[in-house]
Amino acid sequence: MIQLYVPLNFLGVMYRELKQSLVDLDRLFALQERPCEIADAPGAPALQVGPARVVFDAVGFGYDASRTVLDGVSFEIEPGQTLAVVGPSGAGKSTLARLLFRFYDVQSGAVRIDGQDVRDVTQDSLRRAIGVVPQDTVLFNDTIGYNIAYGRPEASRDEVEAAARAARIHDFIASLPQGYDTPVGERGLKLSGGEKQRVAIARTLLKNPPILIFDEATSALDSANERAIQAELQRVSQGRTTLVIAHRLSTIVNAHTIAVMAGGRIVERGTHPELLAMGGEYARLWHLQQQGGGGAD
Ligand code: ADP
Ligand code: MG
Repeated sequence: MIQLYVPLNFLGVMYRELKQSLVDLDRLFALQERPCEIADAPGAPALQVGPARVVFDAVGFGYDASRTVLDGVSFEIEPGQTLAVVGPSGAGKSTLARLLFRFYDVQSGAVRIDGQDVRDVTQDSLRRAIGVVPQDTVLFNDTIGYNIAYGRPEASRDEVEAAARAARIHDFIASLPQGYDTPVGERGLKLSGGEKQRVAIARTLLKNPPILIFDEATSALDSANERAIQAELQRVSQGRTTLVIAHRLSTIVNAHTIAVMAGGRIVERGTHPELLAMGGEYARLWHLQQQGGGGAD
C-alpha cells in the first residue's frame, strides 16, 4: 500500500513537504512494524481478484524461530462475509492481519486469496486489493483533503467529497473555514479519535478494496461511540470480505463468524448466539464485558 502510493504522492510536491512526508512515512513504517525482507517472486503475476475468498490453510508462524505465534491456524472467509477474531492480548490476532497483508511470510501452510498464494503475486497488487482501517490512523502533516485522497491519490475532489460524505465526515470538514484545505496532523488541526477513524474510513471507501482489515482500537469508548463504530464497520464492510480484529465483543455480534484465539490457535468458532450457547471462552469474555470488564485484550 505504502510502496504503491509513494511515487504518485511525491510527484510535484515541494521539497519541504517531501521531507516532511518522508519523516511521516518513516513513522508509518515504524507503526506498522514493516520488515523489509519480503520480496516479490521473480516474474510474479498480479493478484487476480475474483469474488475475494480469503483462506488461511494450516498457517504456522513465528516472528523468530524460537517461538511459535500461530500454530496451524485454518479458516475461510467467504466472499463478502465478515470474520471477527477475538481473544486475549498476545493470542496472535493482529499477526493474522499482517500475514494477509504479507508484511511477513508464513513458515508453514499458506494464505490464499481466490486460490492464489499471497507469496506468488506482486505485493503491489496484493495491497491494492486490501484496505486497512487501522487501530490508530496516521495523519500526514498535510490538508485533510490530501489525507483522505491518500487512499487513491489520483481521485478527483468530487470523489474525495463523496467518500467523506459516506464516512460521515464531510459536514465537519465543510464547517471548517478552510474546508478540505485545512491542515491537519501534528502542526495542524487535531482530530478526535472518532474523526480520525472517519478519515480512515473515507480513505478506504475511496480505495474501494474487495478485502478489508479492521483492527479495532483498544482504547475505552463510551457506548455511543461504540455503537457508532459498529454502524460504520457494518457499512464499510458491506459486500467486502472482511477480517475484524475485535476488542469489544459488542461491536462484532453481527459478524458471520467469530473465531476465538488463544495461544496461537483458534479454540472456538461460530456465530455470537452459537458461541454463547457453547458456554466456553467466548461466553466467559462476553459476560466479563457485560459487567464492564473492558476489552477482550
Ligand atoms: P494480539 O493482536 O492477539 O494481541 P499479536 O498478533 O500482535 O497479538 O502478537 C502475537 C504474539 O507475537 C505476541 O506474543 C507478541 O508479543 C508477538 N509479536 C507481535 N509482533 C511482534 C514482532 N514484531 N516481533 C516479535 N514478536 C512479536
Ligand atoms: Mg493486536
